[in-house]
Order: sequence, then C-alpha cells, then structure tokens
Amino acid sequence: MSTRVGSGRPRRPGQSQRGRPTRPHSGRPDTSARPSLSAPAAKKREPVVVELPQTMTVKELAEALNLGSGQVIKELISRGLMMTINQTVDFATASDIASAFNVQVRAKALDASEGVIAAEIEEEENLRPRPPVVTILGHVDHGKTSLLDAIRQTNVTAQEAGGITQHIGAYQVEINDQKITFLDTPGHEAFTAMRARGAQVTDVAVLVVAADDGVQPQTLEAISHAKAAGVPLVVAINKVDKPDANVERVKQQLAEAGVVVHDWGGDVEAVEVSARRKTGIQDLLETILLVAELKGLKANPNRPAVGTVIEAQLDKTRGPTATVLIENGTLNVGDYVAVGSVYGRVRAMFNDRGKRLKKAEPAMPVEILGLSEVPHAGDRLHAAPTEQAARLFAQRHAQQMAAETQTVARPMSLEEMFKTDGHAKNLNIILKADVQGSLEPIQVSLERLSTDEVTIKVIHQATGNVTESDVLLAQASEGIIVGFNVRVEPGAKRAAEQAGVDVRLYNIIYDAVEDVRKALVGMLEPKFVEVQEGRAEVRQTFGRNGEVAGCMVLEGKIVRNAIARAMRDGKVIAEGRIESLRRFKEDAREVAAGYECGIVLSGNVRLQVGDVINTFRKEKVAGDVPL
Ligand code: GDP
Repeated sequence: MSTRVGSGRPRRPGQSQRGRPTRPHSGRPDTSARPSLSAPAAKKREPVVVELPQTMTVKELAEALNLGSGQVIKELISRGLMMTINQTVDFATASDIASAFNVQVRAKALDASEGVIAAEIEEEENLRPRPPVVTILGHVDHGKTSLLDAIRQTNVTAQEAGGITQHIGAYQVEINDQKITFLDTPGHEAFTAMRARGAQVTDVAVLVVAADDGVQPQTLEAISHAKAAGVPLVVAINKVDKPDANVERVKQQLAEAGVVVHDWGGDVEAVEVSARRKTGIQDLLETILLVAELKGLKANPNRPAVGTVIEAQLDKTRGPTATVLIENGTLNVGDYVAVGSVYGRVRAMFNDRGKRLKKAEPAMPVEILGLSEVPHAGDRLHAAPTEQAARLFAQRHAQQMAAETQTVARPMSLEEMFKTDGHAKNLNIILKADVQGSLEPIQVSLERLSTDEVTIKVIHQATGNVTESDVLLAQASEGIIVGFNVRVEPGAKRAAEQAGVDVRLYNIIYDAVEDVRKALVGMLEPKFVEVQEGRAEVRQTFGRNGEVAGCMVLEGKIVRNAIARAMRDGKVIAEGRIESLRRFKEDAREVAAGYECGIVLSGNVRLQVGDVINTFRKEKVAGDVPL
C-alpha cells in the first residue's frame, strides 16, 4: 500500500517536499545540491530529488526541473514525442526526461488536496505474474466472433461453470490453472482506437485467418496495426473443417506479408482451429500462454487499483456502469475511484458471468456500479483513499482534457515535424495507392530517404482509398498518410481533421518523395491554393472620390481582408484585399450572398457600377493534389 506523504497542503511544482524551492539554474542541473549561502554548510552532499505528480504538463515539468520548456521539448522530441508546452506527460516519461538532465525524481504520494494519485513505479519484489490480455484481429467473416464464442464456451473458469454469460466487453477463461483475458470487441479498429486514446491494454493479438479464404486486405491491416503497437501475434488458422481449407497456402501468404510461422522457419506461432467444431481451441489457448510467458507479464496486486475502461453505458435501473480492465492493484467494493473525469465509489462489481465480486485483481475485467456519470472507453481508472481525492483527480483530468483540446493535442504535420530545434527520430508513414504495383517503389523510395538521425518507416501499405482505419493508425502511431492516385473517404477526412492527422495526396511519385526529403532537411514549406469564396457586383459608388463601392453579394460571402480581384468586362482591373467592409455604416466581418454592403479595396482602386469583385481565401494543400 502507498503511504501518504506531506501535510496535505498543495505544493507548487518546483518546490521540494520540504517546501524548499529547488535550485534555480540555467543549464543542466547536477545531482548534488549546493548549500545555500545563508545556511550552514552541509556536511554531506545531498542529491536533488524532485517530486513529480502522476501527470503534468510539459510546462509544469520544465518548471519542476528548473529547465526551460524548450529544453524539455527537445528531449521529448528526441524520444519521438512531439509535444507542446500545454500537453500532458505521464510520470514515466517525466522521469525519463529528468534522468537525461541528471535529476532524480520520485512520484508524489497521494496528496488529497491536489488529487494526485500514488506512484505507479513498482518494486520488483511486489510484482506477481498476471494473466495476459488478448485481442482478436482478422478479416471480416474469418470467424473472429465465432472464435471468441467458442473459447468462451469451452473454457469457463472452473468455479463459475453454469453462470449466465454477460457481455461486458471482456471475459476471462482458465486453462491449466492459468487465466487469459479476452477483449470481446474484435477487430483492429477497436484495438487502434483504444491505442489512439493512449490506452494499450492488449498483450497478445490473435490473428484469425480463414483457411478457405486466405490472407485478405483486413488481415494485412491487422498485421500492420499489431506491428505498429508492438504486440506479438499468434495466428489462428480457422475453418480447417471446410473441404476447401488450404492451410499451407495461408502460411505462404502470411510469409509474403512478413509473418513467418514456425514451420516456415519463422518465430510466429500458428494454430489450426475450427471455431464451428470447437477443435484446436485448447492448443490455441496454450500457445497464447506460451507467447505471453515470454513477455513476463507482472503486476502488484497489493496496491490501489489502476485500470482502463473497456466500455461504459447508462443502465436504466443500475445507473452508469463501466467495464474496467484492472491493470495493476486490486479494486475492492467500497473503493473510491476516479475514472477519467468521473468519480464515485464502487457500489458493486460483477464479472462476465454476472457474478457479484468483492474484489478484482490485475487483468480482470469487471463491471462496476457507483459512478456519478458514464465515463468513456479508454479512460483510466484510479482508486483513491478518499472521496475528495477521487473527485479532485477527476477534476484535474477534466481540466487537462479541456486544455488539450484547446492546445491542439495532435501529431504534427510533415512541414512542422523536422522544423523544431530538436529532431523527430522516426517518421511513420501509412501508404495508400491505387494499384499494388505502385506501393513497393514508393515505399522503397521513401524509406531510402532515412538518414542516421531519422528512420522513415512505412508501417502500413495497401491499395484503396484512405479510410478511417488508416487515420486511426496514423493517429496512434503519430504518423502521416501518403496517398497516391487515391481519394480520402468522407468519414476519414473528418476523422483526420479532428485528430489533426496529416494526409497528403499525390499523383506524381517524385513529388511525394521530394516533399518528404524536403521535410527532413526542414525545407518543406506548406503550399497554398486560392479558393474562390465570394462574388459581388458594384451597384453604385460613394465617398468623396467614389472610393466606396456599394455592392450586392451574388455568391458565397465577402470576408474582410480576403484576397480580391476586381473585374471589368471580363478582365482583371485590380488586385488587392477587401480593406473595409461595411453594412449599414457598421463594420462587418463578413457579408453573405443576397445582402448589400460597402466595399473599399486596398490600393485606392476606383470601381465603377457593373464591376465584379471576386474574393478568395488561401487553403493549405498537402501533396500535389488537394484532398
Ligand atoms: P467475423 O466477421 O470474423 O466475426 O466472423 P464470424 O465469426 O461472424 O463468422 C463468419 C461466418 O463464418 C459465420 O457464418 C460462421 O458461422 C462461419 N464460421 C466461423 N468459424 C467457422 C469454422 O471454423 N468453420 C466453418 N465452417 N465456418 C465458420
């Protein structure tokens, strides 16, 4: 259990636990504290230990370490993390950064008045093995859902056989006295969506490939998504009961996709199963345990719980419910919890068989009741010792979320990526093209641009338009999307705009390669095109010299300061900006079609009745064709 430290009074970042400000300095701090001039000389050199909360903004971290924000941002970038001063880092990242400056840190213990939760760094001696968490990926109709059902039916945890299955988003099975947790929402979209939200809960991914259908586009997508997340794969070759099943062909196709199974000389485990006949399931589960064992998965059951929300909803009779996967610690009925921006006290807990539980240990999925509102999937749960602490933690989370939406918490565009004083170390690219034959040459040309400092990696490539799944992968991997002779699907366009993912479309391979090359040397400038925004006709003129044109807006809208071209008899007579825009003598920011307005063009242009003013705005184009 954690111990509480401090009086409960909030400490400012940069103040050590004893209330003494940490030493100001301009460069790298060293590990020894200098005695202050007024204090008696210290006998022993004391290392500077800075206390940090579980999460903090980059700015707060810089202040706590007595560094400039720029120095911290540079270190973050050198770790491939593009961040601005108002974005949030977790304790692990912060301590990593601190060590680069030779500053020792420790996590602040829970301080109720700040809503900070106890340290997540665990002593090795407190750790115990924990069950693996598994997600099932694969092409549509290859049997993901059937396999999840088959596993569930054949391997119910011994003492709960006969319980009624509840779909809570995840379930646990038992094999040879060991447990495995399966996430119930198959598919790489859900998997990567969680990851894009900063929650990676999966330890092992099962890739389902139907033996009669072989490797298909979504199989390849799933492979890329698992690889990008660094999650090991176990292949389940399904539907082996079918007469046209061809296991060897599947293995060959997998090898071509870079997933080489054991009997082909690789290190990926493959198991033949039939979800329909329920054969091979035992073998699959044993293989999952084998692969998981190599990862040495551990957690400390004797500490306050930390977990992630798998799904959540409002139940008419029971109020807000959330399925939480406990990642560390033990959650007990009666515990106060902060879940994202929501808090509460665990009133009751149920497992996937609807059985009431008193406690939930690491890797267990549980449905909890007692929250004040419905949290979001991907939100983190933290148990807290008091209601006040839970509430403050939730409030802090809400504030951080609000700050992040304001400060563009997004991966950077290609233009910006290499322009900061530090350097990005990796550039992840998702490559889409109209035909298979274009993919490889583009991939090779792009990856060949890698330098000693920057690795360019095409983490996924496929034919077809840019989809939402591509955008999710780019978001989760902080990469960009390069499309060649393809379009962006409408849903994907919206998603990319929201997530700030840079999508660049090209018709010419050279342009794509050249843009990335320029970006690497910090020479890529954003390109802009003019897009027509409005059209107005001059109906009369005013002013001492007739400099004000009384106009009717015919199309679109006229916006103050927009680029403007005045036309007379089909020829451009003047170019400039809308310097002044008025409606009924009042300054207006914009005037829409169908309304009258007074316009003054920059550069003392004299307009005549019948002249037409076309206005334009500049739009950024990424690539050589607009989205
Ligand atoms: P999902 O889209 O990947 O979740 O695939 P489903 O689990 O919905 O399965 C798609 C279809 O394949 C369904 O009609 C299943 O009954 C069938 N199916 C799944 N597994 C097997 C299997 O092992 N053998 C046979 N013959 N059919 C299967």
